[in-house]
Amino acid sequence: MTRINQLDPRLANQIAAGEVVERPASVLKELLENALDATAAHIVVDVEQGGVRLVRVRDDGSGIERDDLPLALSRHATSKISAVEDLEAIGSLGFRGEALAAISSVSRLTLTSNAGDSEDGAAWQVQVAGRDMAPEISPAAHPRGTTVEMRDLFFNTPARRRFLRTEKTEFGHLEEVFRRIALSEFDTGFRLSHNQKPVHQLPPAKDAASRAQRVARLCGSAFMEQAVAVDMEAAGLRLHGWLGLPTFSRAQADLQYFYVNGRVIRDKVVNHAVRQAYRDVLYHGRHPAYVLFLELDPALVDVNVHPTKHEVRFREQRMVHDFLFRSLHRAIAEMRPGEGPVPHARAVEAPQEAGGESAQAPRQGNMMLAPPRAAPQQDGHAQSRAYASLFGAPDAGTRGNLERQVSDALAGWPEAAPDPAAASPLPDSRDDGMPPLGFALAHLHGIYILAQNADGLVLVDTHAAHERITYEGLKRAWGEARVRAQPLLVPLSMAVSTREADFAENQPDTFARLGFTVERAGPETLMVREIPALLRGADVEALVRDVLSDLVMQGSSERIEQQIDELLSSMACHGSVRANRRLTVDEMNALLRDMEATERSGQCNHGRPTWMQLSMKELDRLFLRGR
Ligand code: ADP
Ligand code: MG
Repeated sequence: MTRINQLDPRLANQIAAGEVVERPASVLKELLENALDATAAHIVVDVEQGGVRLVRVRDDGSGIERDDLPLALSRHATSKISAVEDLEAIGSLGFRGEALAAISSVSRLTLTSNAGDSEDGAAWQVQVAGRDMAPEISPAAHPRGTTVEMRDLFFNTPARRRFLRTEKTEFGHLEEVFRRIALSEFDTGFRLSHNQKPVHQLPPAKDAASRAQRVARLCGSAFMEQAVAVDMEAAGLRLHGWLGLPTFSRAQADLQYFYVNGRVIRDKVVNHAVRQAYRDVLYHGRHPAYVLFLELDPALVDVNVHPTKHEVRFREQRMVHDFLFRSLHRAIAEMRPGEGPVPHARAVEAPQEAGGESAQAPRQGNMMLAPPRAAPQQDGHAQSRAYASLFGAPDAGTRGNLERQVSDALAGWPEAAPDPAAASPLPDSRDDGMPPLGFALAHLHGIYILAQNADGLVLVDTHAAHERITYEGLKRAWGEARVRAQPLLVPLSMAVSTREADFAENQPDTFARLGFTVERAGPETLMVREIPALLRGADVEALVRDVLSDLVMQGSSERIEQQIDELLSSMACHGSVRANRRLTVDEMNALLRDMEATERSGQCNHGRPTWMQLSMKELDRLFLRGR
C-alpha cells in the first residue's frame, strides 16, 4: 500500500481545481471512488434524509495507516500520485487529494480505518467538523478497511444548504451516482439503504450471467431483454457492454452509461460516434440506450480536465472515434431477426408512452412516413430517373449486374433475392427447420403480415420492412459502384479562400472520387464542372462549399456520405410504396427471408420497428389462459 504524501505546490497547481461538493450525491461519488481505489470487495452505503443528514460508506479495502489519517483530510494530500509524470497516465479514480478535505470543511466527518496490520480489529479514527479544526486521532474498533461517515452537510454554510432540494430529489441524484458506480465495477459487491430501508443489494458479479443480472437490476429488465452484448477489440482498444436495440429507444438520453477505464464520463467524441452509429436506424428525436465500457492505455486519456472528473480528453480522438463508430455500427448492423434479442410489443411501447408520441405518425418533412395507404401514388418516371442518374447507363459487366441488383431491390420481391456475395450469411435456422421469422399466414388489410414461428406469432409492417431491405440494397450497390459524375450544363464559378483553392488544386483525386470535377480558375476562384449525378438536384454551390470545408477541416467528407444515405433512403421510400398491395403467401415468405438476411432489418429507415414477436406465453397471458 502506498502512503499518503502532500503534493508539492507546483504539482498541485497542475491539477484541475474547483469545488466538488455540490450536494450529497457528489459526496457519495467521491467516497465510492475512494473505496474502489482501495480495491474494496464489498461496499455498504447508508444514507439518511436524501444524504443531507448522513452519507456513510464502509469498505473492506486496503485501509489507511494511523499516521496518514490526518493527511487524508488535508488538501493536496494523496497516495495516488506523487510526481508530475504520474498525471500522464492515471490508473486510479482519484488523484486530486482534495475530496476528503473539501467534504470535511462543510460537514461533520468521521474517518475510521484499519490498514490491516492488526488483525484484532484495532483501528484509528479522526473526526473533524468544519474548516478550522485540527483532526485528533483516537483508537476505535473496525475490521480491515475504512468507514467514512459524513453528517449534516453544509451545517456551517447555510447559504449552500438552501440550494439543496427535497429529500426525494437529493436521493434521486444519489441513487444515480450509486447506479453509475455499481455498473463500473462488477467484481465489487454494493449495498445501498435509505433511512434504514434497503434499496439495492448487489452481490459481487463474477460471471457473465450475474453481471447481466446486475445490469438488469440497475437499468431495468426491459433494457436487458432488448439489448445485445458486445465485446470488440482492435489496436489496443477494447469496447464491451450492452447495446439497446434501436427500437428500444428513449425519449430522454437517460439510459446512456459510458465508461473509460472504469470511470463514467460524458464526452463529445463518444456521443458523436454513438449518434453516427445509430444514425439511420433510430426513430427521429429518440435516444439510444447503452451501457458500454471502453478500455485503453491510461496514457492515451487525460482525466485531469475537470474537477469532477466527468470529462476526459482522448489523446488520439480520431482513432477512438473511428473505433467506437465502427464497432457500434457493426453491432447494430448485425441486429436482425434470428440473431440477438427479439422485439416484444411490451418493451417497444414503454418508452414511447413516456415520450407521449406514440400515436401520431412522425412528421419529418417526408411524406413517406405516412401510412402506406395514405401515401400518394409515385411518379414512376421520377423514380427511374433518380435511379438511372445514380448508376448511369448500364454497360457491360459489373455495371449491368449492379443495375439489375438495384432494379430488383426497387421492384419488390420475390425477385429481390439478396446478392449472396454481398449479403452476410443467413442466420441459422432452428433445429426444427423453422426460420427465425417463421412462415406467413395472412396479409392483414394489406399492411401487416401475420406469420407463425417457433415462439408464436410474428407481425411485420410490410412497407417498413421492404423499405429497409431496399435501402440496404441501394447502399450496398452504391458502395460497390464508383460515384458517377455528371457535367453541369453551365460550369459554376465560385469565390473561395486561398486555402480552399489551394486544397482543391492539390487534391483533384479526392474530389474525383466523390464525383466532382473542380478546377482552379484564379487565386480565389474555383470552377465546378461536374458533380455527382445522384446529387444533381442539390444546391451545387452550397454542396461544394460544405464538402470543401469538410475536406479542408478533416481530410474526408462525412457530409457527402450523409447526403448520399439520405438520398438513397428517400429513394427506398419511393421504391417501396408500390408494396401497398395484397401479397401472396409466397411473396410474404420471400419478404420474411429477405428480412432475415438484411442488416439492420429490425427498423425501417426512420427507426420505426419493422416486426414484432408475440410469444405463445404472451398470448396466453392476454387470454388469461392457464390461470
Ligand atoms: P484522492 O482520492 O484524490 O487521493 P481524497 O481526498 O479522496 O483524495 O483521499 C485522500 C487519500 O485518503 C487518498 O489518496 C487515500 O490514500 C486515502 N483514502 C481515502 N479514502 C480511502 C478509503 N476508503 N480507503 C483507503 N484509503 C482511502
Ligand atoms: Mg478521492
